Amino acid sequence: MTTRREFLAQSAMSAAALTAAHAMAAELAAPSPALLERARALLAKAPLIDTHTDLPSMFLGANGGDLSKFDLARRQPTLCADIPSLREGGVGVQYWSIFVESATQNTQVSLHEAMREFDVALRVISAHKDFEQARTADDIDRIRRGGRIACLMGVEGGHMIESSPAVLRVFHSLGARYLTLTHWDNVPWADAATDRVEHLGLTDLGKQLVREMNRLGMFADLSHVSADTMRDALRVSRAPVIFSHSNAFALNPHPRNVPDDVLATLRDNGGVIHVNFIRPFISRDGFAWTQKREAKARELHSTLADEAIEKALEEWEKSTAPSATIADVADHIDHIRKVAGIDAIGIGADYFDVEEATMVTGLANVTRYPYLFAELLRRGYSDEDVMKIAGRNHLRAMRRMEKVAAELQRTEVPLITES
Ligand SMILES: [Zn+2]
Repeated sequence: MTTRREFLAQSAMSAAALTAAHAMAAELAAPSPALLERARALLAKAPLIDTHTDLPSMFLGANGGDLSKFDLARRQPTLCADIPSLREGGVGVQYWSIFVESATQNTQVSLHEAMREFDVALRVISAHKDFEQARTADDIDRIRRGGRIACLMGVEGGHMIESSPAVLRVFHSLGARYLTLTHWDNVPWADAATDRVEHLGLTDLGKQLVREMNRLGMFADLSHVSADTMRDALRVSRAPVIFSHSNAFALNPHPRNVPDDVLATLRDNGGVIHVNFIRPFISRDGFAWTQKREAKARELHSTLADEAIEKALEEWEKSTAPSATIADVADHIDHIRKVAGIDAIGIGADYFDVEEATMVTGLANVTRYPYLFAELLRRGYSDEDVMKIAGRNHLRAMRRMEKVAAELQRTEVPLITES
């Protein structure tokens, strides 16, 4: 089974593959300085909330989580985020992703690894005066007024709770404000977008867990789950749901993207889909290219040794990789607006490495958010529209989610499934 990191490493084209044509397209799409300034001012006011960045995993990957090797107060070219870059990009609120490969559920180490992710995320947040942990929408407002970047955590994969509502509750008490129901693989109670059909969506336990998230005050995150899991979760959730990093299936039929019927239901749910900037998910040719690449890898596998396959594939990628630009991301936003409405759109870029070509051209790193919003302004989005997408939709959904939780806590007891 392909893991997410493998998939993305495979799918990202090498920097060398950025053709002159792509560079020229980016050049042509450069926004006017006036629009860029207006975008920056709106992001500062909105604020800009990004619901998905993988910095904790980068720390663990780099040196097991030894923070003394990195000073986030300075630019860190080997990390996907640092404080000066976040400030330059206008980020006011950041969800740090608690991410553990879903294959760890086969060896029963998901929860242990999740603890290491929480540990490093909490240490990063408390180590810098520019950061402060937020647990509520009111916290976000207060922290922003103090000029700091409000930090939250989202758990990317239901495998980490090991089917236990007790673990879910402890994650919430640590500050997790969303749980992505699955990652790349199915869990015992929900189907993933990129695994086989096993449960036809959520099992009864899966539905109970979504309702427990409603009671706790935690978003059910439907990125990565199968379309049937999305539909089931939207049916049973009493609170707004989110997609922390997902795009529109109608523009690129990748199973990671969200079909129109689900987007239409999201409008009624009051939830938010946060658009990511990952090239194979954004490009119209992204899914077709991924399939061609798999076929090519299979073909090479029959003739070459592993090491040679990697090199041959890199060469193949250079000549075939799909292009994607800021305009393509804006096309996804236009489409979601048409189907789900302006109130359902947010941003979850999913910066997770420092490879220039992982993300679409023009949005290579966290300094670049204003360029996307300048493009939306150019397309006629109003100041109000821009601020909604930047963060106000998320804050509205969060306040509603908190209100539902407060009400449910008066009438419901915690879910107990283990004896
Ligand atoms: Zn993801």
